[in-house]
Amino acid sequence: MSLVITGGRVIDPSREFDGKADILIDDGVIAEFGKKVRGSGDTLDASGLVVAPGFIDLHTHLREPGHEHKETIATGTRAAVAGGYTAVCAMANTEPPNDERAVTEMIIAEAARNGACRVYPIGAVSRGLKGEELAEFADLRAAGCVAVSDDGKPIANAQLMRRALEYAAMLQMPVVAHEEDLHLRDGGVMHEGFYSTLLGMGGIPAASEETLVARDVILAQLARAHVHIAHISTAFAIDIVRNAKRGGVHVTCEATPHHIALTDETVQSFSTNFKMNPPLRSAEHREALLEGIADGTVDVIATDHAPHHFDEKNVEFDLAPFGVIGLETAFSTCHDRLVRKRIIDLPRLIDLMSSSPARVFNLPGGTLRAGAPADIALIDINERFQVTNTFASKASNSPFIGETLQGRVVATIVGGVLQYDLRKPKQAKKKKK
Ligand SMILES: [Zn+2]
Ligand SMILES: [Zn+2]
Repeated sequence: MSLVITGGRVIDPSREFDGKADILIDDGVIAEFGKKVRGSGDTLDASGLVVAPGFIDLHTHLREPGHEHKETIATGTRAAVAGGYTAVCAMANTEPPNDERAVTEMIIAEAARNGACRVYPIGAVSRGLKGEELAEFADLRAAGCVAVSDDGKPIANAQLMRRALEYAAMLQMPVVAHEEDLHLRDGGVMHEGFYSTLLGMGGIPAASEETLVARDVILAQLARAHVHIAHISTAFAIDIVRNAKRGGVHVTCEATPHHIALTDETVQSFSTNFKMNPPLRSAEHREALLEGIADGTVDVIATDHAPHHFDEKNVEFDLAPFGVIGLETAFSTCHDRLVRKRIIDLPRLIDLMSSSPARVFNLPGGTLRAGAPADIALIDINERFQVTNTFASKASNSPFIGETLQGRVVATIVGGVLQYDLRKPKQAKKKKK
């Protein structure tokens, strides 16, 4: 089974390519890349479209096992391909948590059966996510985990974090850190600042994130290990990472589309779709995040896709769970807010969503080189559309409903198979066997 993608503007950040090229896919891998490539099978006309390596999300909550009323591996990966993602890394805070081999194996088996894209499990740092004793990283690694994290919770105990970093380093895995001092959060529900005072809501200070980022950068240096800071959101946290990188510490970090696009001002609507953790920060923090993206301090854009059931979110702001979905709108949001606003160019955005995540977690993909898996996103950067409350995800807790965005993924190919196709019938016609 072969397929030639012709006539598109191909952007492959893995080798700084941006130009017209054809791509021949054969047997699930990229067989040939260049001008006037021919194949014996189908042709996909990509004229007018951008052809990019499929996106890789380092931070997805698929909710299965245990919370299938929120999302499943099947629906979460459907949402992924609808956003141009060809691989997602599944966080460990399921029920039971992914703290042992059997759970990792179940996730991989279910993804192979019903998944629309690749799924790379992330194992738990601590047994039961309790923050007390380490999980068996070697077992998790052998079963297919690509990183470890207790995401959803911080590792409060610095000694446990040190041991986790040392153990993970032996296995060449990053520790993904959800940075938050729960004592400083102290029941807060939104960013501590002008709007939390105005609205009379409990604040989460920037310091609750920054203190742990500082600690973990120091511990990563001590352990000579790789710490990956999840969903970075404050100005000082970005400064800490920037300085640590200069000092040679192996630290990487990710930013979410919602922290890139939105501020705490939106909480005035009292919509629980603006409640997430870390919270939407003030405009100054958002500016610092954009600077960190522009200067390369931020390595990756990751969604922190956190689906919740409508009934769980349909309560008072104080009582609602933290988290928003993001897979289906990530590219459009970031294209609209970063590329159209000239913070970064399109090849750099594609790098932040595909090639760079592959490098940071050492995953296959993120490239269109011959021999690579045929994981590809086709993008129409001129299409404007309004985000509605209809999603491929089981959940609809998106902070972007109602927004008009420009730039949209129109088709996604995973391992040579068209897993998502939004193209008009005219563009979609191919078969000429
Ligand atoms: Zn988190
Ligand atoms: Zn998360």
